[in-house]
Amino acid sequence: MSQSARFIELEEQYGAHNYHPLDVVITRAEGIWVWDADGNRYMDCLAAYSAVNQGHCHPRIVKTLVEQACRVALTSRAFRNDQLGPFCQELCELTGFARVLPMNTGAEAVETAIKAARKWATTVKGVPEGQAEILVFDGNFHGRTTTIVGFSSEAQYRFGFGPFTPGFRMLPYGDADAVEAAITPDTAAVLVEPIQGEGGIIIPPEGYLKRLREITSQHNVLLITDEIQSGLGRTGKLFAYEHEGIRPDVVIIGKALSGGMYPVSAILADDEVMGVFRPGDHGSTYGGNPLGAAVARTALKVLVEEGLVEASAELGGHFMERLRAIDSPHIAEIRGRGLWIGIELEAEAGGARRFCEALQEEGLLCKETHEHVIRIAPPLTITREEIDWALGRIEKVLTTL
Ligand SMILES: *Cc1c(COP(=O)(O)O)cnc(C)c1O
Repeated sequence: MSQSARFIELEEQYGAHNYHPLDVVITRAEGIWVWDADGNRYMDCLAAYSAVNQGHCHPRIVKTLVEQACRVALTSRAFRNDQLGPFCQELCELTGFARVLPMNTGAEAVETAIKAARKWATTVKGVPEGQAEILVFDGNFHGRTTTIVGFSSEAQYRFGFGPFTPGFRMLPYGDADAVEAAITPDTAAVLVEPIQGEGGIIIPPEGYLKRLREITSQHNVLLITDEIQSGLGRTGKLFAYEHEGIRPDVVIIGKALSGGMYPVSAILADDEVMGVFRPGDHGSTYGGNPLGAAVARTALKVLVEEGLVEASAELGGHFMERLRAIDSPHIAEIRGRGLWIGIELEAEAGGARRFCEALQEEGLLCKETHEHVIRIAPPLTITREEIDWALGRIEKVLTTL
């Protein structure tokens, strides 16, 4: 029995079966590369759903993690620590927002944004208590808490987990007119992914976010963008909303905020929205802890100082152009922004999973998204030569399978 098979067996026997991973057992990682328990090397083309934009085990981030862990890791917010203030300042200076509310996981930050929007609607806009409504979209992914799956359009994410939180209304993604028509005096916010990642790298029509910004401003409704996966360089801009030159009222970030080292998430907003929180309104034992704050500070510095946002734009263009040149009957569409690329397969191709398994044989770890999309999202530290290496393998799989 291989080493990997042993670990898989243990996980299958003792772990909950809430995932269906590829059978690759990773024991070590560095930059864009990971190694399995039997010593095989793979290129990571998922980057932990864009949490590892800075590359695995980035030496600077590891150093910060170790040093801060030895100093102080957790104080709780009952006391202050010397990392939170500088973290918030640096994040605000980088993003142009006035305030930060730090949490841990992405779903918690989404919950935080929902609470902020509802309290803003109730205390600032004047929506009667308990009536605030948030507009969300078909195909969304915002996390897995009961409130969040309650407004998912994915039947499996919901089935058996109700009853759900009211106050959400689902609209078609990409249709700004539908948003305008759905707004009522009770509408608190529009919660949108600038590009739907889990939905299959779905890019809305050009001008969509701009229209959403105009409509929400006109009707005194908050525009909240979930940039947990699209943000921090993945699309070739710091935030995906920058592609349309807009500025949301609330931005939700997570994943790459800590370079994959430790869970850190946050919402960004200005005083009008963030000011709704009073002491005791909201919190988390680990949220804003010194270890997470220190790690995030370094993860952001790496992103900026290594030019990863610009690299994503440039290399993503190259990657996509070369993918489009592949002549395969299986390819229906290649789409993406920056180093965030979806290869949509024809329905007759038999699903993306078998292609991902074949790519694994070739030393490339990709994950199917929905049934027919192969998602390619390597760490932003990837080089042009490494992309060309990957392209050779992707072309082989797409033309021979
Ligand atoms: C991953 C993700 C989340 C949830 O983040 P978790 O850390 O898994 O809770 C929310 N929104 C988007 C767009 C995501 O990609």
